[in-house]
Amino acid sequence: MKIYLIVFALLFQSSLFAAEVNVYSARKEALIKPMLDRFSEQTGIAVNLVTGKADTLIKRLEVEGRNSPADLLLTVDVARLIRAKDLGLLQSVDSSLLLENIPTQYRDENNEWFGLSLRSRLIVYAPDRVKVAELSSYEDLADPRWKNRICVRSSSNVYNQSLVSALIAHHGVATTEKWAKGLVSNFARKPKGGDRDQIKAVAAAVCDIALVNTYYLAGMLESGQEAEVKAAKAVKLFWPNQQDRGAHMNISGAAILKHARHRAEAQQLLEFLMSDAAQQWYADTNYEYPVKQGIEISSVLANWGAFTADELKLSELGKYNAEAIMLMDRAGWK
Ligand code: FE
Repeated sequence: MKIYLIVFALLFQSSLFAAEVNVYSARKEALIKPMLDRFSEQTGIAVNLVTGKADTLIKRLEVEGRNSPADLLLTVDVARLIRAKDLGLLQSVDSSLLLENIPTQYRDENNEWFGLSLRSRLIVYAPDRVKVAELSSYEDLADPRWKNRICVRSSSNVYNQSLVSALIAHHGVATTEKWAKGLVSNFARKPKGGDRDQIKAVAAAVCDIALVNTYYLAGMLESGQEAEVKAAKAVKLFWPNQQDRGAHMNISGAAILKHARHRAEAQQLLEFLMSDAAQQWYADTNYEYPVKQGIEISSVLANWGAFTADELKLSELGKYNAEAIMLMDRAGWK
């Protein structure tokens, strides 16, 4: 009898202390740890964090299969979330809280991934060499008058792939391919570097226009580093396609993994990330827009004013990712 009691006590204890959740995050520790710590303080659930590059983490999840310790995946760009879904790595989550707070276009129709924050891919330009009246849309960047004037990073970058996927969704493959060829013929240089490097290239007059994600420009402005601030201040931003469908949008997001052992805790964390405080902190820290409506945005983004966002369902971007990569290759986008 005594033995049974001890076993029971041990089981009870271990379940008491087993409140934990394992997170694989493609976002750097500094960008999420304080929020995860707050979650632990509030709930008593310990968060074990593994950070790494998004594609590496997805590969790791594939290799680990059902032995994976991961419960929740945090990553950026919807194309990656959709890839994880297509690989069968995710599971559906039944949460009215998530459905109520996340607009339809920013979550999976089968509830396998959810947007947490928003970013747009916009145009930055050199105001001394480009008049704002000359700018209009992504489509217009294929016009020959922009010859040798555009900088953008390589086609291996998922942000560009998602932008091209959006154009395929709106215009079809043939029209988008023609556009991509025009855009490539307007490149000022062979694609290289990240989005920050494109901003610096515009500031240094290597090119007049670049396509970059919102948070890079905001991050440079707020970096406190003289060279970064100077480059960011030398360019102006332009929201494309405001006369029609709106600017291209993408997300950072999260998903519960198929083989999660701490499923309830993972859902609790996911729902915590949708709280007002977490939404504001997460978006502010990464210079992104909260996915939840009615949350205050950071002052740097507020300064840029409101804009019309493309309401295309982001699941469409995953549908065309492979097509986009092939199309960019055919167009000579290195
Ligand atoms: Fe990024």
